[in-house]
Amino acid sequence: MFNCKESIDSLLPFLEGEMSPEDEEHLRQHLNGCPPCVEFVNTYRATSGLCRKALVKSMPPEVAGRLRAYLRSKLETK
Ligand SMILES: [Zn+2]
Repeated sequence: MFNCKESIDSLLPFLEGEMSPEDEEHLRQHLNGCPPCVEFVNTYRATSGLCRKALVKSMPPEVAGRLRAYLRSKLETK
């Protein structure tokens, strides 16, 4: 089963629909027992575009760093 860090690592591929079924199963198992991670997924999904930047500000630093790097990589490929 994933721990929180692994779940965060896999969260963005999951939300983008780019996750393998095996990893998705690991993530779902983690979410079953980890309300903070579920909360983050729900909040992220309910947020779009610029609002996600506000969400990033309220995240733990490690999560925020990963998401910022992800968004930056997305922007740079366009
Ligand atoms: Zn967790």
